[in-house]
Amino acid sequence: MLVLIANLGSTSFKYRLYRMESTEQEVLAKGGYERVTDYAAVIDDALATLQKDGVIASPDEIDAVGFKTVLGKDLSGCVVADDVCVKALDDFAAVAPAHNPPYANGIRQFAQSLPKAQLVALFETAFYQWVPQARANYALPQAWRDAGIKRYGFHGASHKFVAERSAEMLGRNDVAAVTAALYQKGPQEISGTPLRVVSCHLGGSSSVTGIYNGVAIGTSMGFSPQSGLPQNNRVGDLDSGALPYAMKTLGLTLEEAERQMTKESGLLGLSGVSNDLRDVIAAMKDGNPHAALALDHLVDSIRHWVGAFAWQMGGLDALVFTAGIGENNSDLRAAVCAGLENFGLVIDSDKNTAARAVEAELQAAHSRVKILVIPANEEQVLAREVYRKISSLS
Ligand code: ADP
Repeated sequence: MLVLIANLGSTSFKYRLYRMESTEQEVLAKGGYERVTDYAAVIDDALATLQKDGVIASPDEIDAVGFKTVLGKDLSGCVVADDVCVKALDDFAAVAPAHNPPYANGIRQFAQSLPKAQLVALFETAFYQWVPQARANYALPQAWRDAGIKRYGFHGASHKFVAERSAEMLGRNDVAAVTAALYQKGPQEISGTPLRVVSCHLGGSSSVTGIYNGVAIGTSMGFSPQSGLPQNNRVGDLDSGALPYAMKTLGLTLEEAERQMTKESGLLGLSGVSNDLRDVIAAMKDGNPHAALALDHLVDSIRHWVGAFAWQMGGLDALVFTAGIGENNSDLRAAVCAGLENFGLVIDSDKNTAARAVEAELQAAHSRVKILVIPANEEQVLAREVYRKISSLS
């Protein structure tokens, strides 16, 4: 099966073409365009390039196109990207303005350019469909909740991959099988010892998810990707009273306040140096106290959410690090794991220092809790889920 993964930004289009054999994959081609103004033209150009390069004889050979959609109104999961899906994206365009319009337009465009291909959308919220209502709801009046304001959660593709892969690494193929089939079968009972995992996706944007027997039970992001951990440029958790107060006392319009909370906050806002943790750490080593505060705040926030989910699940069997920061930064991993010997979690500092962007186990020999690094590859995760969806349809 040939699956094209389309990564659509507000001015960019990147693609990868996979040959899928079961859930094993081979990348046949990849490419991309920046500063896109005409999506129809670049999509047709990409298809022509694949033909010219001899990767495909005709666009009709592409069986499916996968889209990593973010958030739809009243729609989640791994779904056929049809008119209902496009409407759900359009209806929440105001909540995800950088992501929903390009995906809605891209899906419409692919439906014209590749009329024979199955179009599949994997929502970033999909992994959180089974989060208990008590945790998914905010304590808001009915009218707000009817308008769709609830905790959705994001980075679902990445955390689901961690759920499946961590279970395999821990020899729990029963749990891995539940996660693998989650979007086709829903949660399944596991007999015997439960598996309790907390997954830390730490990158340009970051989130922490609790995973019980292969199914997400909660996550740090909420209604939008604007809550939970501090992000590169986004504030993360903020008391709702702070927004009206800042608007009144600093004389900000709503638009300006929103811009500052999404573009000038997070690691950049606290450090005053950079939105890249590498620069923040370098400044901290040079003695910059604002940079030190930014790093401490990130670590504190990660520990806060890990602790919350470990408590909700009645314990922790594995802590997983993934994405740019989680895979590469051993100092941050050490800080997250510091002083938890009483909880049975002890990191081996040599193994930790050695692990960079590779799958690894970092726990000391006497640590009851496993500490894992699992590299993220979101296109590959998406290609797998598209394959599973198409296989379940036929
Ligand atoms: P994104 O979340 O932006 O899609 P990634 O998961 O690849 O992408 O994360 C990218 C981020 O990872 C960059 O913003 C960078 O700050 C961070 N990063 C990468 N390597 C390191 C490192 N060695 N130390 C700290 N941060 C790192």
